[in-house]
Amino acid sequence: MISDALTRIKKVRKRIAEAARQFARSPGSIRLLAVSKTRPVEDIVTAFNSGQTCFGENYLQEAVPKIDALRDYPLEWHFIGPLQSNKTRLIAENFDWVQSLDKLKHAQRLNAQRPENFPPLNVCIQVNISEETQKSGVHLTDLPTLAQAIAELPRLRLRGLMALPTLCQDFEQQRIPFRALRIAYLKLQESGLALDTLSMGMTGDMVAAIAEGATFVRIGTGIFGERVGK
Ligand SMILES: *Cc1c(COP(=O)(O)O)cnc(C)c1O
Repeated sequence: MISDALTRIKKVRKRIAEAARQFARSPGSIRLLAVSKTRPVEDIVTAFNSGQTCFGENYLQEAVPKIDALRDYPLEWHFIGPLQSNKTRLIAENFDWVQSLDKLKHAQRLNAQRPENFPPLNVCIQVNISEETQKSGVHLTDLPTLAQAIAELPRLRLRGLMALPTLCQDFEQQRIPFRALRIAYLKLQESGLALDTLSMGMTGDMVAAIAEGATFVRIGTGIFGERVGK
């Protein structure tokens, strides 16, 4: 429902502004990424008409037709799903950002496959902050080496870090992994990397992420309603 999506996106923006005020952040320092996985093109147009320009997609087969259909709109596309070597070319050719980079091999492929007439591909390294074995993301111990190596690739622009911690209900518990990500981010900055992006917080934990310094919150259900299926 179009009017529902409009109401929800306004509510999300209001919550971001309130959280910014509460935690003494400038509201302009927090960008909203609308996660449009599983949503039709019409929902993206609705969000665009309310001023939303950056969208996140997880599944390449689904994303590329949507990006093609929306070429005439000035949108910024972020790939936020798991990467595979055989998918990197289409990602390098269709997206403005990749937030889920966690392997040097994938970074090297994206670097080689980024079209010459495009600006460098913006990337964030996904960090496995809750240290769960099967989840994607680099472990904190391997992060500095990976970050230095990615920063040297000329067709990529390393912007910062992304994390997807397991959702829990308690606000103070939610802050713990976000704080760990912020500390890792500050350490990389101290080591000389020019980073400006801390992508953390989804519909259920965005206020805690803002409290810990998020510069991008990635919101799906909060904008588009409950997802059916995946
Ligand atoms: C789906 C997804 C989101 C959005 O989650 P919601 O709970 O719907 O807000 C954010 N980040 C990633 C990486 C996702 O896959």
